[in-house]
Amino acid sequence: MFKSATVRLTLAYLGISMAISLFFSFILYQAAVHELQVGLERQSRFFQEAPKFPGFSNFPTENFYDQQLAEGKKRIIINLVYTNLIILGLAGAGSYFLARRTLRPIELALEAQTRFSADASHELRTPLTAMQTEIEVALRDKNLKLSDAKAQLESNLEEVQKLKNLAEGLLALSRHQAGQGVAFTFVSLIRIIEEAEVRMGSVFKQAGASLNLKGHDIQVEGDKESLISLFMILFDNAVKYSSHKPIINIAVEESKQGALIRVIDNGIGIDAKSLPHVFERFYRADTSRSKHTSGYGLGLSIAKQIVSVHKGEITASSTPGIGSEFTVKLPIKQKQSLLPE
Ligand code: ADP
Repeated sequence: MFKSATVRLTLAYLGISMAISLFFSFILYQAAVHELQVGLERQSRFFQEAPKFPGFSNFPTENFYDQQLAEGKKRIIINLVYTNLIILGLAGAGSYFLARRTLRPIELALEAQTRFSADASHELRTPLTAMQTEIEVALRDKNLKLSDAKAQLESNLEEVQKLKNLAEGLLALSRHQAGQGVAFTFVSLIRIIEEAEVRMGSVFKQAGASLNLKGHDIQVEGDKESLISLFMILFDNAVKYSSHKPIINIAVEESKQGALIRVIDNGIGIDAKSLPHVFERFYRADTSRSKHTSGYGLGLSIAKQIVSVHKGEITASSTPGIGSEFTVKLPIKQKQSLLPE
């Protein structure tokens, strides 16, 4: 598909270049022929007005000037044809290069989209296949007891919940990618973090997690709900990827680049091999903890998307067995303020 698009775009660029080149060649030809005619007429007049000496009768004839003009035109045309052939070669190479450059970002976006659809379909198929197998086995069992049927339904419900979580994750990702429904206002970071903590209340309670917040409040221009979601994702991970009582330390400070929020946990950590990939969609580090916790590897990509909508930056560092640190940098004020004047 991209090969034929590249060829078509190359031909279009080449067509435009050659049309311009031929247009200027035509103008150049007209101008050169005009100059040639003027030169020859001047020469002719000179010879006609010059005194004629006896014995010197071979002055150029009318025919001679026509020949000169025809010869001159031929030479101009040959030169222009050669020039246009060189331009055709150079423009061909240049057009191909430009066509590749124009189509490359579209090709990459399409590749990412295809990969995303394939990953999403794979993730959707796994719980669906599990449910289908369980239901088929149960239906084939002629002596299925009520208690077994109930257990079966419970297991199905679990899979349905997973599917629902996946659908919600995908929806959140696409919503944040499109920057839909964001309303920028000046928001207090401390308030945002406290709100995320409140919303994570039951998860924290169940895991016996505690949260320590340090630093002074900073007001940043951002979307309140998205920022609360961002911290909920980081807190959820800090709890999920912890084998003992999670302690989450948060430091809020102001730096040259804006607001700096560090979320530090004492969890299992992330190995160096996995660390560069944790923000990729559907990436899950290959740890036993990841295998036993629910998730689809969408949380951190949603977090990254939220930060990118805010023109900020999110990075991760970790020491396996000690814990992980996620650093969020947010500009205090957006460059092109999205707030009403
Ligand atoms: P999910 O948690 O659904 O798997 P995420 O995108 O939130 O997806 O995280 C991607 C992966 O990064 C996780 O599967 C986990 O392996 C790793 N990870 C994320 N946060 C932490 C953390 N705080 N501690 C250890 N590992 C983490």
